[in-house]
Amino acid sequence: MSMTPENRECGVRHRFTVRHRDTTPNPWPAAMQQLAHWCAVFDSEGLAPVEGGASAGNLSFRTPAGFVITPTRSRLKTGIDWTSFVEVVRADAQAFELHVLGSGTPSSDAFLHERIYAARTDVNAVLHGHDELVLEYAHALAREFPIALTTGTRDFGTLIDSQETASELGAMPYIIRLGHGFVSVGRTMDIAGDLAVAVHRRAVHMKAGG
Ligand SMILES: [Zn+2]
Repeated sequence: MSMTPENRECGVRHRFTVRHRDTTPNPWPAAMQQLAHWCAVFDSEGLAPVEGGASAGNLSFRTPAGFVITPTRSRLKTGIDWTSFVEVVRADAQAFELHVLGSGTPSSDAFLHERIYAARTDVNAVLHGHDELVLEYAHALAREFPIALTTGTRDFGTLIDSQETASELGAMPYIIRLGHGFVSVGRTMDIAGDLAVAVHRRAVHMKAGG
């Protein structure tokens, strides 16, 4: 199943309330440099295609207070400025509210990242991208890689989507969000990123008949 229209992120605004506690995120120079690196890789590999002027995808790493994530409606390209990243330091599911450091608005999928970090103490990086080939070959890829599949398609960015996707990920390092995209997680950004690229390249190979 390919991408469903409601999951195209262009034009969709975040659904939660944002409380800005500060206008700049804490500096985590090495990790932020790595996050910027993976933004550039996702862009160049076609894992965060530009939809409606912004990249479809969101990447984060864990911090002691929460996590640093790419802002909503941004371009994940080479040279992304770290000051545009946002650190989420508190999530209130009941109020559907995020407290952040930074001037931007965290990705509309920020609650999904939050739910995964809460459930998976082994995970320090969460990378989400869009990949039509991965959707096309979802079941074949799941036979070759440690991949979970969502049980259905859901509108992204809702609390229910974040809770159910995190739950369906289970102990796996990768989940395909049917009709939407994928999430790759790992102990480090490199582990999660390398897996995302490996699955994508395998899908490219499958498309070519291999
Ligand atoms: Zn998405």
